[in-house]
Amino acid sequence: MPRLVMKFGGTSVADLSRIRNAAEKVKREVERGYDVAVVVSAMSGKTNELVGWVREVSPFYDAREYDAVVSSGENVTAGLMALTLQEIGVPARSWQGWQVPLRTTSAHGAARIEEIDTTALAQKFDEGLHAVIAGFQGISPEGRITTLGRGGSDTSAVAFAAALGAERCDIYTDVDGVYTTDPRITQKARKLQRIAYEEMLELASLGAKVLQTRSVELAMRYNVRLQVLSSFSDEPGTLVCAEEEIMESNVVSGVAYSRDEAKVTLIGVADRPGVAAGIFGPLAEAGINVDMIVQNISEDGLTDMTFSCPVDEVARARKALDAALADGKLAFREVVTDTETAKVSIVGIGMRSHSGVAQKMFATLAAEGVNIKVITTSEIKVSVLIDRKYMELAVQALHDAFGLEKAA
Ligand code: ADP
Ligand code: ASP
Ligand code: MG
Repeated sequence: MPRLVMKFGGTSVADLSRIRNAAEKVKREVERGYDVAVVVSAMSGKTNELVGWVREVSPFYDAREYDAVVSSGENVTAGLMALTLQEIGVPARSWQGWQVPLRTTSAHGAARIEEIDTTALAQKFDEGLHAVIAGFQGISPEGRITTLGRGGSDTSAVAFAAALGAERCDIYTDVDGVYTTDPRITQKARKLQRIAYEEMLELASLGAKVLQTRSVELAMRYNVRLQVLSSFSDEPGTLVCAEEEIMESNVVSGVAYSRDEAKVTLIGVADRPGVAAGIFGPLAEAGINVDMIVQNISEDGLTDMTFSCPVDEVARARKALDAALADGKLAFREVVTDTETAKVSIVGIGMRSHSGVAQKMFATLAAEGVNIKVITTSEIKVSVLIDRKYMELAVQALHDAFGLEKAA
């Protein structure tokens, strides 16, 4: 029988009636003749609560115990979904990550999937039993429970779709597709019928949390037909697919933002070979997700180095830099941090063949009086770091300037 993966995010399983609603959608696909693997998130808000408890008990927590606690939200919804399906006449059982097993690295809190053994799942499909899988979790080589990073149930879903050779991977969420920007920021955001893997990958990694970045990477690598749609309506969703499957698109396809960014500047670093490695080595060892980097022109052999990272990593970054300074591995005069910044990015494969896109972005922000602190570009994106208080304004202005409200 053909197989289908259906993933339900936190808001789609937020209470028993929503689980029931999701179960009805599963039943419909079962009646169409699919063997269904349902992947569930924790009820909305649950994972945040669990993370909060861990931090309260232990600020510098043991990551293995963090995973033991934080993965538990998905266990509850998996069991409840299996029960709900049984109640409406769909034979199903729940699976925790380790039971499948879904094997990961031992990078607790941000583990990567290494292998999914689908033998047991397939056997149960043959017995007529549909699968409800707790998303976000797996098992390490040491036999400990791991989690895949926030938003990781998307990645579980795509990985299962690839491993099971599913016809499609449907991601049910609280919006009915991928929009030109977060519909919470502007009502003018337009739903895209299709989006290329590469664009989705950029949007996700630049902050559009509708899909976890890693899930898009996997979908692209294994050619998984990935669809984002609403669990609260029957509207057609957005298909994430190969570029060749898209006929027309705007030069810019979407605007993404990441609210909680910080800018860190090291003042008075020596301008000589090895200095960047000296700075970013300790930061990498401390697990800091450094994003944008700029080095100033040097004066008198000294220069300033600026980088951005998530706000909640600033304290750890400072600690790592101070330790490197104390060890004499690094020399700088002072560290200045700005924790009130946000990153706004425009993304589009059309940028490859059009010039002047970055210029238009800068002019648009200038017209709104928004100062740009740091800029980075790649083939299909331009990102800027700005004051957080202008973030919404910047997203709206760019959405207007690039005419995203209307299809190409
Ligand atoms: P789930 O709990 O189902 O995994 P998420 O909250 O992780 O849902 O992701 C869905 C949210 O992503 C939406 O509610 C929306 O606010 C946000 N979002 C950000 N950018 C976009 C975008 N370009 N298109 C659609 N949704 C977006
Ligand atoms: N429950 C996890 C989270 O909130 C995983 C997910 O929902 O995708 O991050
Ligand atoms: Mg999500």
